[in-house]
Amino acid sequence: MTLSQVASAIPASPTIALNEEARLLREKGEPVIHLGIGEPKNKTPITAILSSAAKLSGGDVKYVPTDGTPSLKKAIVRYMEDNYNRVAAPYNIIVSDGAKQSLWNILFTVCNPQDEVVILAPYWVSYPEMARMIGAVPVVVTPEDGSFIPRFDEIERVVSSYTKAIIINSPNNPSGMVYPEELIARIVEMCESKGIYMVCDDIYNKLVFDGKVAAPAYKYTDRDVENSKIIVVNGVAKLYGMTGFRIGWATAPRKMVEVMTNVQSQTTTCVSPVMQAAAEGALTGMQSVVESLRLTIQNNRDVLMQELRTFTDVRCDKPQGTFYALPDFKAYLRRSVANSSMELSQFLLKKALVVTVPGKEFGMEGHLRLSYAGTVKELTEGIERMKWALDPNAPSEIYIGDRKLVRDWL
Ligand code: PMP
Repeated sequence: MTLSQVASAIPASPTIALNEEARLLREKGEPVIHLGIGEPKNKTPITAILSSAAKLSGGDVKYVPTDGTPSLKKAIVRYMEDNYNRVAAPYNIIVSDGAKQSLWNILFTVCNPQDEVVILAPYWVSYPEMARMIGAVPVVVTPEDGSFIPRFDEIERVVSSYTKAIIINSPNNPSGMVYPEELIARIVEMCESKGIYMVCDDIYNKLVFDGKVAAPAYKYTDRDVENSKIIVVNGVAKLYGMTGFRIGWATAPRKMVEVMTNVQSQTTTCVSPVMQAAAEGALTGMQSVVESLRLTIQNNRDVLMQELRTFTDVRCDKPQGTFYALPDFKAYLRRSVANSSMELSQFLLKKALVVTVPGKEFGMEGHLRLSYAGTVKELTEGIERMKWALDPNAPSEIYIGDRKLVRDWL
């Protein structure tokens, strides 16, 4: 069979592949604990359910405008005003099938083949693959000091006349870090002066802990949406835990939105009006659901940090947002139950039935990404099982489900 080399070179999304592996194990009755998945456990906000149900029961579910229904766009205009202090016109907004499609549309729209896209490690797995898919070149900046936040001079060093865009994801998946305001300010200044698109993947912008806020890039420019290089991506997946509704959006200058709309019209025509109605219901409904989700997740973060503190030789920078942490497991690679984060992750799934995501996928070998979006019980039990499998100071016996297991490899 002859297939496209570009398409064949694209690996499966590792998180989605792991979800599938865990699902199959669960189907077989295995008591798998999923610390890999990036979705909160909350129920869909009632206003989203009612609004999509009304659309469905009206029986009028047809094609709608490619760039989004006017009423959802109106709700997004309000969201921009409330959270970004910017007046966006409806023509500055395009609704897509999840923030993932928004990001793909943006990169496809701004990059010519061989243009460079700067990506900061640790990064969300899909950025480099999306850049490659559209023929652009991902240029990864990895902090030299081993931290999760590159210094401005490290970023500036890779920027050249080929640089078309830089993707900023703060709060960050997978590290949970919120980038310092000074760094954001300097990147904004660089992008505005050099004409580089600053793509802000703000999908976790409300999931910030300890009273902090993630400063939006717009705070550091006087330019309006139409004249700025800043492009904002957001969606309902993390904000309301509505991952399955697949609604994301981008806010950008009008001309760019027009091109993205043409691209989308040739690929997906439009986004389901039922799902758009749900997103509208969430955005216009009681926002206390967001705060209650944030508080639940902040509490989970605290539980995770407490558990990790008792894990011999595991270092973890305290997440300031999202529902991910990226602890350093290098000590366990040296102890050779595994030689890489991928092997370590596979070892933990096999021995302890715990799903984690290898740090290598995010450009941070030696780490594992743990999601604390689930329940406190899953978190504590998951870490306990990991300790049992890896930590020589942990008890050598454990019950997993109704099976008593004895560790005989340390
Ligand atoms: N950006 C980041 C950083 C993410 O973590 C995710 C989801 N895991 C997305 C974008 C995609 O969001 P959506 O589900 O709306 O496509």
